[in-house]
Amino acid sequence: MKSIVIGAGFGGIAAALRLRAKKHDVTIIEKHNDLGGRARVFKKNGFTFDAGPTVITAPHLINELFELFNKNPKDYIDITPLNTWYRFIFDDGMKFDYSGNEELMKEQIEKIYKADVKGYENLVKFTKRIFDKGFTELADMPFDKPFFMMKQLPALLNLKSYKSVYTLVSSYVKNEKLRRIFSMHPLLVGGNPFTTTSIYGLILYLEKKWGIHYSMGGTGNIIKGLEKLMNEVGVEIIKNSEVNKIILEKNKITGVQINNQTNINANNVICNADPPAVYEKLLNENNNSSFLFKWKKKRMEYSMGLFVYYFGTKKKYENVEHHTIKFGNKYKEHLIDIFDKKKLNNDISYYLHRPSATDQSMAPDGNDCFYVLVPVPNNQSKINWDTEGEKMKNLVIDKMEQDLMPNLKANIISDFYLTPDYFEKELNTKYGSGFSIQPKFTQSAYFRFHNKSEIYDGLYFVGAGTHPGAGVPGVLSSAKVLDKIL
Ligand SMILES: Cc1cc2nc3c(=O)[nH]c(=O)nc-3n(C[C@H](O)[C@H](O)[C@H](O)COP(=O)(O)OP(=O)(O)OC[C@H]3O[C@@H](n4cnc5c(N)ncnc54)[C@H](O)[C@@H]3O)c2cc1C
Repeated sequence: MKSIVIGAGFGGIAAALRLRAKKHDVTIIEKHNDLGGRARVFKKNGFTFDAGPTVITAPHLINELFELFNKNPKDYIDITPLNTWYRFIFDDGMKFDYSGNEELMKEQIEKIYKADVKGYENLVKFTKRIFDKGFTELADMPFDKPFFMMKQLPALLNLKSYKSVYTLVSSYVKNEKLRRIFSMHPLLVGGNPFTTTSIYGLILYLEKKWGIHYSMGGTGNIIKGLEKLMNEVGVEIIKNSEVNKIILEKNKITGVQINNQTNINANNVICNADPPAVYEKLLNENNNSSFLFKWKKKRMEYSMGLFVYYFGTKKKYENVEHHTIKFGNKYKEHLIDIFDKKKLNNDISYYLHRPSATDQSMAPDGNDCFYVLVPVPNNQSKINWDTEGEKMKNLVIDKMEQDLMPNLKANIISDFYLTPDYFEKELNTKYGSGFSIQPKFTQSAYFRFHNKSEIYDGLYFVGAGTHPGAGVPGVLSSAKVLDKIL
């Protein structure tokens, strides 16, 4: 059985390995000359910048890929738990250290608003119920049949999946700051907490169950370990090659064409590339699809874009945690501007990553390595990032100087940034969205792009745009779905 995987992000690599373990003859084709997709690595002036995922959750899903071949993950990767998971900071200077230490969590909640301690306990209990259903039971199940979806509906309604994460959290916790903290998880997978289905409240519990981890040497070292494994077990890796066409005979996939010249035949093609872009650009503008599918695709809403500024400093900022999330004052308005109005807002919220807080190998001695991520509108906005990019960079530096890193500008010795244009042009995602389509109820499970194409025989999807969705645990789970259907 010959299977081709298009794209070597976490989802594509996991699919290639899972199919190889089932004795398929597997080739993985990646546009770039390095693997990882959103999880690739940039090196500059002695700094190692992980481009994307930094918060590693559910590490067993990574370990499983090595164990499929009776290999010890520890021989390839080094994943270590963090004590403080996120430090949240607010405009008034208030800080909250979020961790798996329940005593410390409750102590801090009590100081902010005593009555919310009980609400927090009940919220955690409720998210366990969502987790048991949404993750344990359904994350790696194929949602390609309407009957299967209908069977889940009573349980999903019982779990209040018609509510948003923010509304769910607000029904347990009354203080606005705490509401923001406990409802921020959709932002990690491309959703607005005010509109994302409360099923994604499961992330709160998932973090508590398995902790938050860091990959020593950076997330890139996980990709490196997985590449080594693919080479050892006989997955063919073709880099620097873009698939420009998926070849069809009637409705059956027969192979792919790369770089506008070479055809490779296959029984199955598994796309880790963004599903809407695949249907539009690699499959003849989607002409074969039904009216219903065209409508489904047309009404899809896309996740936000990301502005990511990578920088190294000549001094160390020991006061800055490994992961910091700063909420802007007009948080909700900011999110409405990004997701709905598709415009920039100066009152930004941001996520700051400082891997050298845990791992000095990411920066030269005495230096610090960072990236700061600002959610911005995706390219439906038509923002000209050639002019806005520099302004956004200066804005976020100013904010970080005010909030927690005095004199930052003068201390930066290496930097660059990525905008939604990078996601659109380099990673081939529709509208340059950071996380493919949004995780709304009407775009989840059966309503998302199916893992087994609803249009073509022999075509499959893994990665952020298909079930269960974005984030490393999500895309690794999508490869487990594939295991069940191919
Ligand atoms: C800045 C940032 C921070 C994040 N932080 C976290 C985090 O802390 N924790 C977490 O769990 N998740 C995080 N995420 C989300 C997570 O990184 C992604 O959801 C996940 O890595 C996406 O993986 P994927 O399998 O969908 O593939 P992608 O990483 O999207 O890779 C797809 C690959 O396909 C290739 N490709 C596309 N088209 C073609 C073609 N035609 N031919 C050949 N190759 C092609 C692309 O080059 C790319 O390599 C973050 C994402 C970003 C962007």
